[in-house]
Amino acid sequence: MSDSTLQALGGGATPPAQFGHDALVACDNLVRIFQSGTVEVQALQGLDLLVDQGEMVAVVGASGSGKSTLLAVLSGMDAPTAGRVRVGRWDLMAMHAKERVAYRRQMVGFVWQQTSRNLLPYLTSRQNVALPMTGPRRLRAARAGELLDLVGVGHVADRQPQEMSGGEQQRVAIATALANEPQLLLADEPTGELDTATAQEVFDALRRANRESGTTVVVVTHDPAVSGLVERTVAIRDGRTSSEVLRRDTGGDVTHEEYAVMDRAGRLQVPREYREALAMTRRVRLALEADHLGVWPDGSPR
Ligand code: ADP
Ligand code: MG
Repeated sequence: MSDSTLQALGGGATPPAQFGHDALVACDNLVRIFQSGTVEVQALQGLDLLVDQGEMVAVVGASGSGKSTLLAVLSGMDAPTAGRVRVGRWDLMAMHAKERVAYRRQMVGFVWQQTSRNLLPYLTSRQNVALPMTGPRRLRAARAGELLDLVGVGHVADRQPQEMSGGEQQRVAIATALANEPQLLLADEPTGELDTATAQEVFDALRRANRESGTTVVVVTHDPAVSGLVERTVAIRDGRTSSEVLRRDTGGDVTHEEYAVMDRAGRLQVPREYREALAMTRRVRLALEADHLGVWPDGSPR
């Protein structure tokens, strides 16, 4: 062993920081395999995703790409097959049943696509929102009212779900999911049953939850147009994050920039349109330039 190797192994060296150590959500090479009989489905195939505290991220992707599986893992309802996943101080791979319950009570709020699944039918909005809260009854009712105001549905506080529109119910569901002051709010296609205008109101409610209460939001949607409404949109394809769109407000102008995602091993997916346009198949030629990489189809002249 050389002197320098020995030095590197010696006491003073700091260990490399863990992947995404400063993010609120860190999914590292996440794998989820479902087995039914002899059929094996790889719902997540090495997914990497980092979400910072206070961010609002939209997750898009075709049906069956693994979006709901990802949210089920992040909510603590499902456990991954392999990989690492951490939310705040919680290591979701290592959690026991008891910790899982505590995690779900303290750390996350969840909104489902089906309006009927989010609220108890025989309670008013205020009662639904107050249900997960602790403390004196009057305080809980007041706080529930504030949350309903935050998401723009203060006027339905005394109505039961069947007396409200789908969009109102989903906004009450957001208020309910915020009741225990979670750090992370997860929503799986919360606008899936709604028309466009109503969907916009529900998205606005999620944005207000994000901006005004500082809750980190991860929202799954099948609607690619949402990338205009959030700062970051992550696309999932075949159980992996494949691209990201960042939205930037530059003084009146809104720009969208699309990025490919490189995983920790340096792999990245070239969009099919690009591959087809240049007939790139199995091999490509790479060149390192001063500030970018060149990628040429195999057989192209040097
Ligand atoms: P999405 O929400 O993007 O439509 P899902 O995460 O629901 O996708 O599903 C990803 C893949 O995993 C699909 O092929 C789906 O059929 C499969 N899958 C999801 N849940 C289960 C399960 N409980 N058992 C077997 N296969 C499942
Ligand atoms: Mg789904």
